[in-house]
Amino acid sequence: MSLVIVGSVAFDAIETPFGKTDKIVGGAATYISLAASRFVKQSKLVAVVGGDFPKQDIEMLRQHGVVTEGLQIKENEKTFFWSGKYHNDMNSRDTLVTELNVLGSFDPILPASYQDCEYLMLGNLSPDVQSSVIERLQKRPKLIVMDTMNFWMEIALPALQKTLTMVDVLSINDEEARQLSGEYSLVKAARKILSMGPRYLIIKKGEHGALLFHEDQVFFAPALPLEEVFDPTGAGDTFAGGFIGYLASTGDVSFNNMKRAIIHGSALASFCVEKFGTERLKEVSEQELDDRLQDFIELVQFEIKIKA
Ligand code: AMP
Repeated sequence: MSLVIVGSVAFDAIETPFGKTDKIVGGAATYISLAASRFVKQSKLVAVVGGDFPKQDIEMLRQHGVVTEGLQIKENEKTFFWSGKYHNDMNSRDTLVTELNVLGSFDPILPASYQDCEYLMLGNLSPDVQSSVIERLQKRPKLIVMDTMNFWMEIALPALQKTLTMVDVLSINDEEARQLSGEYSLVKAARKILSMGPRYLIIKKGEHGALLFHEDQVFFAPALPLEEVFDPTGAGDTFAGGFIGYLASTGDVSFNNMKRAIIHGSALASFCVEKFGTERLKEVSEQELDDRLQDFIELVQFEIKIKA
């Protein structure tokens, strides 16, 4: 089993109704790697940062089993910067700033040791970069999962459409699914998106859970009702990292196992939102994760007798 993760490693500045941060370490690939590392011993990162990125954070990733051979450091350039502000309901946010910096000219170089990739997670990045990673792998991975966002739908739709034809699973939120398909009904949106390339579609609905579509099958996973939602940044990436990490660790990519993978991803995402940035994700213990998985089981377990 070998898992390769591509995505942004970033500085984020976040504002929620509960507080504000200056530049803290974030980025899709950071959350994905930290989440996946709960299930796999090693994940191989492909990303780029500037000379301003703290060396101790690269070390922190290594300590979590993240292989950083494919992490480029452009000493004279600046790390990607994103800033967002959450609305009062925390389900929606405005992007205040996107400074691509090093990401603007990112050429994802795959070290030879990454060519054994069986599971590929394409975190939110330019769709051209995402497709070039697939093209640079000598052997097609067993499973390719992709995330994207409205930003790329607006500035790079043709490239996004091409990348969609190359992947197995697309993971996006409800707003993005509506934008990509032009449909309000998520069932219709799913049908349209599944005809664009991916065989599986995950639609994330924030605090309202997630849906998995495949052919005519649908699975719904709730999100755990939480007392504390402090900062939802990275929840989607944490979910995706948990999802692919679980699949990679079990080696089973069936629809039934994807259901379990979604619950594992949701459980990790429920921790991510409890503190700013990656803070909470880094400290989740085995026991806490097991307890939360149990909470999920109890949340949706019921018995009904249907009259014959
Ligand atoms: P999420 O909350 O799961 O949607 O992901 C938030 C993360 O995505 C933040 O840590 C950002 O650094 C990162 N991000 C935001 N916009 C972009 C973008 N255009 N390209 C790559 N990463 C991004």
